[in-house]
Amino acid sequence: MSDAELKQKLATCWRILNKLGLFDIYGHISCRVPGSDTFYITATLGSTKEVFKPDSLVLCDYTGKKLGGNGTVPLEVVLHSVLHKTREDAVCVAHVHPYYSMALAIAGIPFSPVTLQGAPLGDGVPVYEKSEILVNEEHGKKLLGAVGSAKAILLRGHGVITVGASIEETTYLTIYLEENCKYLLEAAKAGKAVPLTREEIKERMDQMAESAKKGNPYKRIFDLFDEKTRQ
Ligand SMILES: [Zn+2]
Repeated sequence: MSDAELKQKLATCWRILNKLGLFDIYGHISCRVPGSDTFYITATLGSTKEVFKPDSLVLCDYTGKKLGGNGTVPLEVVLHSVLHKTREDAVCVAHVHPYYSMALAIAGIPFSPVTLQGAPLGDGVPVYEKSEILVNEEHGKKLLGAVGSAKAILLRGHGVITVGASIEETTYLTIYLEENCKYLLEAAKAGKAVPLTREEIKERMDQMAESAKKGNPYKRIFDLFDEKTRQ
């Protein structure tokens, strides 16, 4: 993937998540530059979230230092840098504050996958218990300890972080983490939420592994959301 393609795709991810209402005015996404120790991250300033453009990105190293690009490095850059640095599979990292995902952690209800779309999160979504802004090395270490190898983590009273091996996967995880949390909460309010069984999760993941043989299984969904959110 060329630099221009990466920036374009990151901007598309931003637009999709924004159009779906998964951002308030905060939040940022980042993507590792292939074959380097650097990543692009959405700038705090220099663009409004509504009209985010590929050139509104900042290039950073793993210490979170700005190496180039337009705008200001987000305050919480450390949550991106530690994941890109430590986890090979953390190609794209999103941090947003979506309503239902936040409400779930605030309610103290453990995450469980209740939809087929939530199956990729079937290994669990832990909670970062302390409600605080993540701004320094110590926070970065705490985050790594709390998230382990999970694809997403709920930050109690704060937001969520999703971690994918591609921009498409992170987009998917962010959308369906929120959707899954919405159903889970609604069902819990109605009296009972019935999670997917281990067999159901495995069956769904086997299907996805099969389609992954033909390419990134999240690409088609990403393209569909890209189309849908342009309308
Ligand atoms: Zn935050």
